Amino acid sequence: MPAMLLASQRAMRATRFISGQPKFASIAKDDKSPVTAADFASQAVIAMTLQDDDAARSVAMLGEEDARALAEPANHALRESVCAAVGFALDRASVSANEVMDAIASAHCNESALGTRFFTLDPVDGTKGFLRGGQYAIALALIEDGTPTLATLACPHLPPTRLASGDSIAVDAVGTLQYAERANGAFELNLREARADAVEIRAALWKSGAPIRLAESVEAAHSAHDESARILAELGSEVRGIRLDSQSKYALVARGDADLYMRMPTRAGYTECIWDHAAGALIAQEAGARICDLNQNALDFSTGARLTNNLGVLCGDELLITRILEVLRR
Ligand code: AMP
Ligand code: MG
Repeated sequence: MPAMLLASQRAMRATRFISGQPKFASIAKDDKSPVTAADFASQAVIAMTLQDDDAARSVAMLGEEDARALAEPANHALRESVCAAVGFALDRASVSANEVMDAIASAHCNESALGTRFFTLDPVDGTKGFLRGGQYAIALALIEDGTPTLATLACPHLPPTRLASGDSIAVDAVGTLQYAERANGAFELNLREARADAVEIRAALWKSGAPIRLAESVEAAHSAHDESARILAELGSEVRGIRLDSQSKYALVARGDADLYMRMPTRAGYTECIWDHAAGALIAQEAGARICDLNQNALDFSTGARLTNNLGVLCGDELLITRILEVLRR
């Protein structure tokens, strides 16, 4: 855990270095989704930090980013920018492009070589949020036998406590870092102190009839907002929506700032990526929330890069999830 926390804090420095630049490049991946210098720098910094740790070094990692696009001659400026961010995050005067690309590649292990114990990483989860200056997360988890057992979730723009209820959350200059170890609770570090102290976090208890504070994706293509509204309308409670990108939705549930995170499929055949859920799900679960899919199944992280045995995600108060599952069964 100490190496994962150090890696996450360094990755926050790397992504901030990029977001602090007046202009930064982004390129489109094969699936048309955007990737920036921050995504690559974060993955490199985490891989390089874990390489320095005796316990973590031998553990394979499935990080979202592939180094191939970065190696293309046309992406020279992007590469330079990644190297500068990595150097800044690691306090090194210079870092070579080869070292950075090797680190990214080493953290993008072939699915078939993962075995039953591996790290999964989303170096910038919610890249669209990052691009619009909104919420994003750096999500790292250790998976053992199909279950996340250690997790860190860095949210560089998430205030330590919500400043106001309503639709938007302020963009914070310091951010938050949550972590959890299976069966040992969930914690949030106070990054505002020189020596970061951790406080235990707990999910909220929702009471029947109380308003439902719902955390949802900003992107309508990632979660069917109309479907969640339709289902929740049947519960007869007022719904207070909070739209934010990334696993910061799990972070809100974990510390009691939201009662529910709902992820409703927008198209048949889409299966969720493990790096989009492993860290957040463990943290929310350790904080006392229930996590399952729309068929009431636990998330199954034993099926490679995708949650092929699951459909959608529900995370929140036990009673609230039970009511939602009843509506879904009807
Ligand atoms: P969010 O921040 O909730 O919008 O989720 C961001 C994540 O959504 C990205 O990391 C993608 O992996 C994932 N994603 C991409 N396409 C879809 C889709 N059609 N349905 C659900 N999630 C998606
Ligand atoms: Mg993601």
